[in-house]
Amino acid sequence: MNLFDLDNRAVIVTGGNRGIGFALAKGLHQYGAKVIIAARDHARSQRACDAISPDSDRVLAVKCDVTCTKSVSVAFEQAQEWAGGLYGCIANAGVRGAGCALDEVNATAWRAAFNTNLEGTMNTFQAAIKPLKAQGEGRLVAVSSLAALHGNALFTDYSSAKAGIEGLCRALAIELAPHKINVNCIMPGWVDTEMNTDIKQDRRQFESIKRLRVPLKRWASAEEMVGAVVYLMSGAGSYHTGDTLRIDGGYHIG
Ligand code: NDP
Repeated sequence: MNLFDLDNRAVIVTGGNRGIGFALAKGLHQYGAKVIIAARDHARSQRACDAISPDSDRVLAVKCDVTCTKSVSVAFEQAQEWAGGLYGCIANAGVRGAGCALDEVNATAWRAAFNTNLEGTMNTFQAAIKPLKAQGEGRLVAVSSLAALHGNALFTDYSSAKAGIEGLCRALAIELAPHKINVNCIMPGWVDTEMNTDIKQDRRQFESIKRLRVPLKRWASAEEMVGAVVYLMSGAGSYHTGDTLRIDGGYHIG
């Protein structure tokens, strides 16, 4: 067997209907996984399934709002029923923060960043643990951000929520190791997705990020996140847990 073969492993990807999540769903499907796309905009999720493969029986869309425990548990039930179990879960759904100074951000905006990024990851993993334990092994992957590591003015909400995800994953990796469930994060750098449309429109900021801060001198494409996640989900990643893989074009050393 190929080390990276996913061989019908059922993997749910939250926020899999566009951007990084879509690239991950498509990549996992290419390597043989059964993929479940879980997001709020169901029509977009169905279009994403068609874009992955219009006639594949290894891809499904389920409606899911990660901020709502009921919605998450219904989505996971549908996913398991369809796939006949669950092997992996990628907590990718995320939103950027309010984008304003801490002394100006209001509590509602602050909580919104936490509800989707940190609590959404917690809700997602909570729903995944039972079926993964039943499977006797499994893989959880969360999507953190460079913002968890580097000071990011005007994004205290997003930065703290993403740093929280890393703490959650380290603790959970210890908790779930006896169940043969590996828990890791990926930490993307600047990725060219709709989340960054506003930054891309600001040519000066867009150019200065890649020229001054990224040794590889460019933004990443969403597809460049796929390899790390296939590795973590596959036999190749069997001894890897409690870690964060930085995929940032060298930003952290630049
Ligand atoms: P996008 O804005 O392109 O996509 C976000 C995805 O999350 C959409 O599929 C959206 O679908 C889904 N989503 C948002 N809120 C919810 C919710 N409450 N419940 C379920 N799904 C939800 O973002 P990216 O692809 O750029 O980002 C993906 C992840 O990567 C995020 O966690 C982000 O923080 C992280 N990241 C991104 C970076 C970048 O530069 N782009 C850098 C570092 C990290 P829908 O609206 O249908 O629910």
